[in-house]
Amino acid sequence: FNVVNASYVATAVNTSQYPEGDLQEIAFIGRSNVGKSSLINSLCRRNGLARTSGTPGKTQTINYFRITGKLPDDSRLEFMLVDLPGYGYAKRAQTSRAAWSKFIEEYWMTSTRLKLVCQLIDIRHPPMESDINVYRWLIEHGLTVQVVATKADKLAKSRIQQHVRTISAGISLPQLNPDGRIIAYSAVNSDGRNELLDVIKNILLK
Ligand code: GDP
Repeated sequence: FNVVNASYVATAVNTSQYPEGDLQEIAFIGRSNVGKSSLINSLCRRNGLARTSGTPGKTQTINYFRITGKLPDDSRLEFMLVDLPGYGYAKRAQTSRAAWSKFIEEYWMTSTRLKLVCQLIDIRHPPMESDINVYRWLIEHGLTVQVVATKADKLAKSRIQQHVRTISAGISLPQLNPDGRIIAYSAVNSDGRNELLDVIKNILLK
């Protein structure tokens, strides 16, 4: 399964701006600076598709991208990639954090076509409280979550599994969907890319 086309569709700041259509959605979420834009660009092989943030506290938006994937038999599989705003920026005011939650909760509650949430966690550190809270919230609301540990190239290969286990223990929930594995990903050398695309494909075809 590989991506053959990726294009920007829309930006939403409230529910009335969600794009119409019936494409299944795969959402991406993580702390600010976790490497979400880099991962999306790497997954789609399109630099600049998702803009790397750099400006914490900028307007919180949901960005939609239409992705076309090609299956081994040459048939096409389309889905909507949903880039959600980053959470947990340390200096963000309490009010802004509350607004983030409301905005995102509205998305979870409204989006009937959401099939999978890819939650990104920096592989170098144990999950932060905000990561754990978001993960639990998603699981409690019945969503399927694939945890992706980002920036894997920053660790020696021999340490990757150990850090993955720390993240797994840190979020400490048994139902680590979809198949109980955390994917270690590097936007620099594309490690984990095929694995993540496979998870997405399997969810879309289910
Ligand atoms: P976002 O705020 O979550 O969208 O994060 P960005 O994609 O903007 O990345 C934040 C910083 O981490 C940038 O300086 C990126 O170059 C860097 N970064 C992101 N992904 C990787 C990765 O896989 N490996 C390395 N070495 N750096 C990364």
